[in-house]
Amino acid sequence: MSDRKGGLSTRSVHAGSPERSETESVNNPIYQSTTFVSDPTGQGPVLYTRYGNNPGQIRVERKIADLEGAEDCLLTSSGMAAMSSALLGVLQSGDHLVAAEALYGGTRLFIDRELSRLGIEATYADMQEPGWEAAIRDNTRVILSEIPTNPLLRVPDLDAIAAVSRERDCVFIVDVTFATPANLRSLEHGVDLAVHSATKYLNGHSDVTAGAVCGSREMVGPARDRMKIFGTAQDPHAAWLLERGLKTFAVRMEKHNANGMAVAEWAAGHGEIVHAHYPGLASHPDHERAGRLLGGYGAMIGLEVAGGPERATRLIRGLKMITPAPSLGGVETLVSEPRFTSHAAMTREQREATGIRDGFLRVSLGIEDADDIIADFEQALAATR
Ligand SMILES: *Cc1c(COP(=O)(O)O)cnc(C)c1O
Repeated sequence: MSDRKGGLSTRSVHAGSPERSETESVNNPIYQSTTFVSDPTGQGPVLYTRYGNNPGQIRVERKIADLEGAEDCLLTSSGMAAMSSALLGVLQSGDHLVAAEALYGGTRLFIDRELSRLGIEATYADMQEPGWEAAIRDNTRVILSEIPTNPLLRVPDLDAIAAVSRERDCVFIVDVTFATPANLRSLEHGVDLAVHSATKYLNGHSDVTAGAVCGSREMVGPARDRMKIFGTAQDPHAAWLLERGLKTFAVRMEKHNANGMAVAEWAAGHGEIVHAHYPGLASHPDHERAGRLLGGYGAMIGLEVAGGPERATRLIRGLKMITPAPSLGGVETLVSEPRFTSHAAMTREQREATGIRDGFLRVSLGIEDADDIIADFEQALAATR
């Protein structure tokens, strides 16, 4: 590319790619090789795919770093590999972490089952409420949150949390999977490490499992060491698929954001939907903050239908295009009930205390036409009346 930096869509296509000479392929090749030629003393810039320096892995890291506005990016084989590497890059035995109550289930398991075994304690705090800082101790090293949260789409005050984190000498790690760099410049709001499940919007086609950790070289370095040692480097073919998925990242996000707003507005005005959770709606508790922090409100939406949990399940059965599946961030619209999927480990009382009533539908809007998504919901609502 020329010196001109270009917009998000241009950078989604071109960032991270080397200059081309004549007869070279327009698309980057897959280096389907575990090892690379070294000099006679075993040195070289590219050595071994598990070290994460296969050229295809590096290209994807450069592209995601560019999109995030980060100095460095670590690519991993899953979002959980990214999160565990980020946390273990900072935390030592005897350290403490403060984590948001609303956390991806896998991250919560990692904290409760794995960090605890290493002598790393955690306190869960509701970072939407003032006074959460009381959870910070002298040995707290990490503050961990997500934005927006799953499935209520709450938007924490990143700048305020970052200020507390700096003051208490902590590392502020945020899972930005739902927000993506299209909608949030997390590093500009004081986040030290932005963690992605690239399985979701970054790849966008529900066909690759991947993760990324973005931040300064100094912050990403220890996470990179964990990736090398634990062996969670991305496979070259999957890295190539992710690179392809990333080329359409910006255009997909425009459509995702537009669909989010269109379906949220339809749901908010529908007599049989008693609650639509979407940060783009004025009724959302964080609407104002979301407007300040986010460049778009995303394509995750929570719906509660009149008729409760029994009808919610029948409604899912009645959908013709929208598919029941637990993941998110792909081109196709997916629906799930958190009580059976992401929040199955909690009791009904625990879920209700956090605002997730039985019958809550979590919808990941794809890039189909909004009218068709709405029509599918309409016909399923009619069939379950
Ligand atoms: C899916 C997801 C993860 C885990 O990512 P994997 O790629 O499945 O390992 C972490 N955080 C959030 C918010 C997610 O949605």
